[in-house]
Amino acid sequence: MNILFMGPPGAGKGTQAERIVDEFRVPHISTGDVFRAAMREGTPMGIEAKKYVDQGLYVTDEITNGIVKERLEQPDCAGGFLLDGYPRTIAQAEALDEMLAAMGKRIHHVIDLKVDRNLLLGRLTGRRICKSCGSTYHVLFNPPKTEGVCDKCSGELYQRSDDSEEKVGTRLDEYTTKTAPLLEYYGQKDLVRSVDGEQDIDKVTADISSLLRGKA
Ligand code: ADP
Ligand code: ADP
Ligand code: ZN
Repeated sequence: MNILFMGPPGAGKGTQAERIVDEFRVPHISTGDVFRAAMREGTPMGIEAKKYVDQGLYVTDEITNGIVKERLEQPDCAGGFLLDGYPRTIAQAEALDEMLAAMGKRIHHVIDLKVDRNLLLGRLTGRRICKSCGSTYHVLFNPPKTEGVCDKCSGELYQRSDDSEEKVGTRLDEYTTKTAPLLEYYGQKDLVRSVDGEQDIDKVTADISSLLRGKA
């Protein structure tokens, strides 16, 4: 099954993706995770991406499309994939359609996580990520058992530098102007299914799972 997760920053895409890939046994492809890994390693692509990510702006379509194309060609994507945070522009969506057509594939489901804008700032500033395994927590809404330590791998938790109050506004504006129009793009293909992302984490997972299983 080939799945896209859409929704503004903080909607819960990464949190839900971690759970859904366990259930559906497909690789989780997060362009944000790919950029952060490349930035950490200081690769040429990472150095270029950092210029944008640090400002809360989208990385160029050219770089982003190149990463996704390379990733989708890996053998583990043969049986399906979950794309989290890609595409985010119409140009990326068009590029994705071309890549998939060339591989004889298509998107089966677009899950749109709906969360009111006024809840997103609190979600993003309270977000903590594991340095070792990338698991996502929240200081209030999904705290680890021991403060600052990952439940799954005992890794150290950190706060993303772009999760600061000043960057969040820019990131939400990028989403509104460039990504929200994609709902229309995929809506025309009748692929979009909306999920109430303001519910408990477990309830959101259950709703997504039902939709993907064709039970809702
Ligand atoms: P995204 O990948 O869409 O940016 P995340 O999955 O990283 O979003 O979630 C953003 C923050 O909100 C994280 O700290 C996460 O723990 C928290 N969160 C995710 N889903 C919920 C939810 N349903 N209710 C409350 N907090 C949530
Ligand atoms: P969130 O879901 O909280 O917005 P991500 O981890 O998905 O965060 O993305 C972090 C940053 O990586 C974005 O703010 C942007 O700079 C860059 N990025 C991720 N995905 C894309 C994309 N599809 N197109 C352009 N930039 C992207
Ligand atoms: Zn961990």
